Amino acid sequence: MAQIGQILVDVPTMQTNDPYSYAIPAELEHQVQVGMRVVVPFGRGHRLVSGVVVGLSDVTNFDGQLKPIETVLDLAPVLNSELRQLADWLATTTYAFRITCIQTMLPNLLKTQPKRQVQPTETLTPAEMATYFPEGAPRDFDTSKLDATTLAGLLKLQRAGKVEVVYDVKNKAAAKTTTGVTPALTPAKLREIAATVSKRAPKQALLLTYLAQMTGDSAQAQTVVAKRAGVTPAVIATAADKGWLKKSTLEVYRDPFHQPVKPSQPLELNAEQRTAVTAITQAIDAQHAQNFLVEGVTGSGKTEVYLQSIAQALQQGRTALMLVPEIALTPQMVNRVKARFGQRVAVLHSGLSKGEQYDEWRRIDRGEATVVVGARSAVFAPVENLGIIIMDEEHESSYKQDENPRYHARDVALWRGKYHHCPVVLGSATPSLETRARAAKGLYTRLVLSKRAKAQPMPTVHVVDMREQLKQQGDSDFSEPLMTAIKERLKRHEQVVLMLNRRGYSSFVMCRDCGFVLKCPNCDISLTLHMDSHSMKCHYCGHEEPIPHVCPNCHSRKIRYYGTGTQKVQQALEKLLPTAKILRMDVDSTRRKGAHERILRQFGQHRADILLGTQMIAKGLDFPNVTLVGVLNADTALGLPDFRASERTFQLLTQVSGRAGRATKPGEVFIQTFNPDHYAIQLAQHQDYERFFVTEMHIRHQGNYPPYYFAVQLTASHEEEAVAAKAMYQIVAALKQGLSPAAIILGPTPKAIARVKRKYYYQVVVKYKQEPQLRPVLEQIRQAAQIPARHGLSVTIDSEPMNFM
Ligand code: ADP
Ligand code: ZN
Ligand code: ZN
Repeated sequence: MAQIGQILVDVPTMQTNDPYSYAIPAELEHQVQVGMRVVVPFGRGHRLVSGVVVGLSDVTNFDGQLKPIETVLDLAPVLNSELRQLADWLATTTYAFRITCIQTMLPNLLKTQPKRQVQPTETLTPAEMATYFPEGAPRDFDTSKLDATTLAGLLKLQRAGKVEVVYDVKNKAAAKTTTGVTPALTPAKLREIAATVSKRAPKQALLLTYLAQMTGDSAQAQTVVAKRAGVTPAVIATAADKGWLKKSTLEVYRDPFHQPVKPSQPLELNAEQRTAVTAITQAIDAQHAQNFLVEGVTGSGKTEVYLQSIAQALQQGRTALMLVPEIALTPQMVNRVKARFGQRVAVLHSGLSKGEQYDEWRRIDRGEATVVVGARSAVFAPVENLGIIIMDEEHESSYKQDENPRYHARDVALWRGKYHHCPVVLGSATPSLETRARAAKGLYTRLVLSKRAKAQPMPTVHVVDMREQLKQQGDSDFSEPLMTAIKERLKRHEQVVLMLNRRGYSSFVMCRDCGFVLKCPNCDISLTLHMDSHSMKCHYCGHEEPIPHVCPNCHSRKIRYYGTGTQKVQQALEKLLPTAKILRMDVDSTRRKGAHERILRQFGQHRADILLGTQMIAKGLDFPNVTLVGVLNADTALGLPDFRASERTFQLLTQVSGRAGRATKPGEVFIQTFNPDHYAIQLAQHQDYERFFVTEMHIRHQGNYPPYYFAVQLTASHEEEAVAAKAMYQIVAALKQGLSPAAIILGPTPKAIARVKRKYYYQVVVKYKQEPQLRPVLEQIRQAAQIPARHGLSVTIDSEPMNFM
């Protein structure tokens, strides 16, 4: 029997990145298993912290007295061996702490610190009881909420062994339960009683008859029994008293799917789809970790390829994991998977409550759900025996987490594919350059879907030169050709999607007398006017203040609003097209849970003519009646100081254009731009991904950018600019000293938005091809950052950053 447990404590520091040894007390000997969460005393003050068991052994090199494990938080391990190995790999490749990686993998409910309670171990004096347990024992033991005297008193009692701190272990599973009912007598006996009571108590007779036909001994929920038997809970209570039935606690799953889904059948594949499915299923059958890029134009039927590949994995008795960028934005995708695989599907995403999330997680953990669909963190779902991993819209930047651990779900998916000997399928109409380049090198097998599935033509795309429009019709958000096209659709009862990549009403307010622009007090950015809340908001930190009527600088009243946002466009459209019904979808209109889905459902049911939104409407929508797409400002992303600006613009325009004409009616797209000659816009007009890939690769080659180079970004931030800058200069010195002359070091520079949430940000970017010393140098920098971290300096390391600003 193991006497010692190796515990990774939940204290994310460099010092605790390796496990600590703890003694396993005799009473826990049979409980403690690797992969379980435990509570252990930590540090000099014996502060209790949670941790995860990563190893068990009999001996240790530690020659002092080992502290004992306090308690176990799980009844079964929450991390299997695969996920533990994955956590270690993740920690190494993302420069994050191991415990942080483990926390990232667990559902939120298992991350919360357990609730502690304190209770007497022996009879206390009445005075002690009155002082410390005025409402009886046990009481909650939350050190942050207890006043100092009570806390000190309780600790004193604890040291004297008179009270103990316990964990609310029953609560920890947080499984949802309901009252279950099982018959307590044989069917014959129940019928017999039913006959005797039928006159006097007809309701009881109904219930008895129902109980008599319940087969097997599995319990049914009391609510179900009451409904089916046609009786009230009171009748069931009486029956329990009479000993006709037994009540029990029944575990139920919270069902996040409120909408029933109609089952679907596999479609007859076209030739290109068939080729793709054949290649993928061969890899599944051969248990071959082969990776695929499904490069399919918008509407080419990639989803059907995914679904039929998943079906093959299930057929082989294996499981499937499917990643999508953001569940809230793609409810249609989830519905399609549900329609094909029904109850076998579990969905994981942040929109679920903690309880719902935990229930889905448990269904997966127990092997009850064999198809998992989810956003980024679902890549850590505890699915075993994977037969296929799919990543839809693999180019989406939301797959990269922008806090520790800064992982890309694609890398994790590839790791798991290798582990399970199963194929990984990356799908997109506009693959990331990295992925497409790897396919060119033969690392991924490229499968092309070049035509729309139902042989519809690709939409006709017009580029509208807004410089000309400005000359002809003055400053307006709508060009004449787009407006004409919208009116035409309204007449034909077809639908329109309009994209404007800026929320709010106008992008800034400026004083016309002195030029003063209202800025956020915490960030280096101007405030955006919001008409719905009648306030000025910071889109970075959430700061909000009233709309100024006089200039805070010169007291002039000539305050004007500049730039445009979705709210203003909505108002303008309502004036121009008074009969049109308009739905707006942006961060502000979708704050409430389920709002995305509601807006999309309304639009799908044609309860609105126009869907106006930010880029959140560009993805995955499949509405047959949409025949026109308008992009109001194609340029917003182009001007950003990021080498991916063109790639993002091309992807966004191609994706949003793909929403038009997906069914029988042909689609048309208008892209309004001040840069009509830019290659990203020109090539998006022709929806020519391959030409874009070649053009952009050339530019990346010239500029020594990824995918030709690897990149790592380091950021230092502090409330004082000088501290952040100084730290960054030291980091750059360390990099220069440790790396080869071939490494390209850019910086240090202040970030494009140099101040966010009262902190100043400095960064450096290293571009490199082969740099064996990079890891040790970065580890050194991490070590060095530990001490100043206590004074508010934070240093982050982002390998292959998605955001260079
Ligand atoms: P993508 O994800 O590639 O943009 P979808 O998977 O949404 O495309 O498919 C576009 C439309 O074509 C959907 O309505 C889908 O049902 C339909 N479709 C896909 N494959 C076929 C097929 N083989 N036969 C008929 N319709 C198909
Ligand atoms: Zn002014
Ligand atoms: Zn701010």
